[in-house]
Parts: sequence; structure tokens; C-alpha cells
Amino acid sequence: MTPKELAQKVLEGHIPSLAKAITLLESRKKGLRDDALAVLDELTPYSGKSIRLGISGAPGVGKSTLIEALGLALIEKNFKVAVLAIDPSSPLSGGSILGDRIRMEKLANHPSAFIRPSPSQGTLGGTSRHTSEALIACEACGFDFVIIETVGIGQSEVLASSLVDVFLYLHLPGSGDDIQGIKRGILELADIVAITKADGSNLSCANIAKAQLEQSLHLSKPEKTPQVLLTSAMTHMGILELIDHILDLVEYCKKDGSFTKKRTEQRSQWFRQEVLFMLEDLLKNGNGFSPQLSELAHQVQLGAITPVHAARNFIATLMPQKKHRN
Ligand code: GDP
Repeated sequence: MTPKELAQKVLEGHIPSLAKAITLLESRKKGLRDDALAVLDELTPYSGKSIRLGISGAPGVGKSTLIEALGLALIEKNFKVAVLAIDPSSPLSGGSILGDRIRMEKLANHPSAFIRPSPSQGTLGGTSRHTSEALIACEACGFDFVIIETVGIGQSEVLASSLVDVFLYLHLPGSGDDIQGIKRGILELADIVAITKADGSNLSCANIAKAQLEQSLHLSKPEKTPQVLLTSAMTHMGILELIDHILDLVEYCKKDGSFTKKRTEQRSQWFRQEVLFMLEDLLKNGNGFSPQLSELAHQVQLGAITPVHAARNFIATLMPQKKHRN
């Protein structure tokens, strides 16, 4: 199948072809990148129409259970739902994301859903290098909601939030993820905070946590305080409310112009990120840089040059020569 034929199948909404296209986009095999970009070029004009939702939270907070409940409720409202799950632990452990498909079995088997675990490929913060590309492929395939799920460790939320329109942070009171303990940076990123497992004996604790969180969020983000919602994937409490809230927020941001502004900023961020990735590839793979790099590394080891000067010398070799007056 040519890249054009594959892209055509994706545009027709053929899910196995979407999976194939994402595999091609993620491929690290030499020679396949041109085909991957040809597919991406065909798909890009048909992308951009979905609601991009980031969901993050500590392991065990209830991400996959909530995503399944949310996904099925969205499908009931006639939305098609894609989930791109990024697990930074996958290179080490084989990944809990494999388990995700099993845990989200109902959603995974639904014809209006697509669940795709993406290896983080060891990139900074765990967000897959090719998540932006997979996102475009899902949109071109006709998905109205693309959920990007990340495990709330390290920097992955920061990168995930840079890809999405709405960032939902999941919080479980009493899990060691208490308010003082929630990394401030994450709350800064959150557009909505959902307290999970608000059912049974957890309910009163969840209500207290909600009040505390609202107060601290109001203090830290007075102009744009994220809504705090109580949810239970088990009793379905708060799930429809969560959907309404996401849709309202998107509507509001479209009206005040911040939706388009954010997506424009995200495109330039993607460009800068891609430049960094490509430079990293060049450094790793040679293309004339490696010998200079190895030589400088050798000099550093010998103590002949400091690491900082070696780095500066190397960067200078990449820059166009400045013209001197004499
Ligand atoms: P993840 O690691 O964040 O994806 O968390 P999971 O979705 O796998 O959930 C972790 C555990 O919490 C599982 O044993 C779930 O059955 C349980 N759980 C998830 N959602 C709820 C909920 O709404 N209520 C209750 N009581 N338990 C839940």
C-alpha cells in the first residue's frame, strides 16, 4: 500500500489503517520516515477538529477506569473517542499500558473507540515524540475526542498539557497525593480537577478534599480557577457533569479566542521540540557531527578542556561563521 492509499483508508475512518499509520509514524526504521511524513501530509488538512483532552494522575488514581466510563458516556452522546496512552515506565517495565487495553476492555472493543498505547521511546518526560502526529491521524480518521493519558510522574503532564485543549488532573484524597503534596506546577496546568473514587466510605473524605482544593486553587489561580468535580467511575457520579464541563470550557475558550491562541502556540512549540529531537538524532547518528563530538568528549575526559567550554566549542561548529572586520 502506498502512503497515499494508506492515508485514504484512514480518511475513510478505517480503524485498522489508523493503527497501521500510527505504527508507521512511530517507526524508527531507517527509510520509513519519508513514507510516514507523506501519510502525515495527506492527513494534516483534515485534522484539528477534535477536542483534545489530557488526563493525568498518579498510578492507581483511577485513570483507566475513569477514561473507560467517560469514553463510553461520550460515545452515548455520539462522539467517537480515541485514547492515546503514554506510559513513561514502558521501556523499563513493558508498561502498564498493555494492561490499559485490558482494563478498558469495553471501550477498547467498541466500534466508536480506538485505544492506542504509545511507548514513550525514552523521550524527555515520557511524552511520546510522535504523539502529536498520532493525534493528527486520529482526527483525520474522524475521532471527535482524542484523550491523551499520561501517568502523573515527572514531566509527562507538562508535555501532555502542551498538546491538548483541556487538561484534566485526577486526584485521590488520602493516597499520599494530598493537597500539599500535589506538585504546584501540575495544578497550575490543570483546567479541571476531578476527585476520583468519590463513592462509599470515600465520599466524605472526597467532599473535604474538594473544599480544600477549591480554596487553594482559588488562591493560586484567582483569575482562572479550575473547577473541582467529584467523580466516581463506579457509580458514574459526576461523569456527565464532567463532559458538560469540558464542552462548556471549550465553547468558552473558542469564544474568547484563547482556544485558537493556544493551538497556535502549541504548533510553534511542536516545531521547536522537533528541531531539538532532530538535533539529538544527528548527534547520536553521526552525519559529520560525531567525530567532533567524540574528540571533544575525549578532551573532557583527559581534563584538557572543561565540559562547558567543550560544549561551547561544539555549538560554535554548528553556527555559521561570523564575519570579522579584519
Ligand atoms: P490507574 O492506575 O490510574 O489507571 O487506576 P485504575 O483505573 O486501574 O484504578 C485503580 C484501582 O482503583 C482499581 O482497582 C479500580 O477498580 C479502582 N477504582 C477505579 N475507579 C474507581 C471508582 O470510581 N471507585 C472505586 N471505589 N474504585 C475505583
